[in-house]
Amino acid sequence: MTMLAWPYHPDLLARPVPRYTSFPTAAEFAPDVGALALGEALDATSGDISLYLHIPYCQQICWYCGCNTGAANRGARLTSYLEALTREIALVGARLGRRARVRRIAFGGGSPNAISPTQFVRLVDAITLHFTLADPVLSIELDPRTMTPDWAHVLRGVGVTRASLGVQTFAPHLQAAIGRVQPGQVIEEVTDTLRASGITSLNYDLMYGLPGQEWADVEASLARTVALGADRIALFGYAHVPHLLPRQRRIDATALPGQEARFAMAARGYRLLVDAGYRPVGFDHFALPGDSLAQAALSGRLHRNFQGFTEDASPVLVGLGASSISCFPDRLVQNEKNAGRYRMVLSQDRLAGALGVVRGAGDQHLGRVIEQILCQGSAPIGAALASAHATALAPFIARGLVDVDAGHLTVLPGGLPYARSIAAIFDPYRGDGARRFSSAV
Ligand code: SF4
Repeated sequence: MTMLAWPYHPDLLARPVPRYTSFPTAAEFAPDVGALALGEALDATSGDISLYLHIPYCQQICWYCGCNTGAANRGARLTSYLEALTREIALVGARLGRRARVRRIAFGGGSPNAISPTQFVRLVDAITLHFTLADPVLSIELDPRTMTPDWAHVLRGVGVTRASLGVQTFAPHLQAAIGRVQPGQVIEEVTDTLRASGITSLNYDLMYGLPGQEWADVEASLARTVALGADRIALFGYAHVPHLLPRQRRIDATALPGQEARFAMAARGYRLLVDAGYRPVGFDHFALPGDSLAQAALSGRLHRNFQGFTEDASPVLVGLGASSISCFPDRLVQNEKNAGRYRMVLSQDRLAGALGVVRGAGDQHLGRVIEQILCQGSAPIGAALASAHATALAPFIARGLVDVDAGHLTVLPGGLPYARSIAAIFDPYRGDGARRFSSAV
């Protein structure tokens, strides 16, 4: 058994911190960087790119969900959204011309399988028509509750090889407490179907810190996921922020585990998965040693983008759909978040960029430092940054969580659960009391 003890220092976790799926974070986006900035960046793009398509609909809305999604029960609204998305595909594809080669296409949401398999095929057709594809890797997020044989057939036909299932927990009483009831048998059947459909990398999203949850629940859910043969597992802490996400008001806040219990669940979950043969990827992902994500982590090729930890090395990620974020080396631009406004803008054949931030050389450097801390556990910060942040780093160094030597920062083994807090030291945009972010564990 791997020995691993994470020291618990509540004072170092007290400050809410971003997840750093980008730097600067979306909290810094402003309307002065919108459609015009997006168009300029697309015009200047060439070479390898990745695409992300957002389907902001689900058949049922889970109470805990932090995604930009709505109920898919109004067919006309969904159809007109897909028309707008198809227009955007054509518009962005024309701006990029044949200069850009698409290496990856990710479908996320919401639940992409809230649309029909036929609608999905039409989207893939539109991408094939308007972009230059370079044998791209296709991935998709799926709601197990709405998987059908037709969907499985289409995934195989289109050549999707990676999928991610929203599971969270197998415990029926916890599923009821978070408004997502899906019998374990359904997950098992969907797993078999996806394997038979050619999915070679299958991820399961799980959660700790749910209302009424105890370690035994986390342990049982992880064990069942391992037994299903998960290639990847993401183990997230539930973030209860009902002031930002009103749908979370249905969750019984009085039953939520305290910070120390959450910390223990994360630590024991980490140990369980490492003992089961998984390689840790960053602070909350795990992958089998043969999986490309584990190999990227091992060889220092891991990156962080809006989808979390990734081996995607493309310098440009183009986001399509409402609320999607496009990421270029010198700027980040988010599309209209509201699906109605998004449809309206596309009906006028205009780019949907609405908010963003320009990244100067300083931000690009700090972004690399933050990404390296989170992905590699070490970063060459240089003497100037080490000295400027000596006071903030001191408590982490004093407790053996971080080492800074000759301008090089290393997160020591016990410091892993503090990685986001350590990274936040280098984020100049973080003031005190940022309620927009979640607990560091
Ligand atoms: S299925 Fe996923 S995206 Fe949809 S509401 Fe539930 S958690 Fe959110």
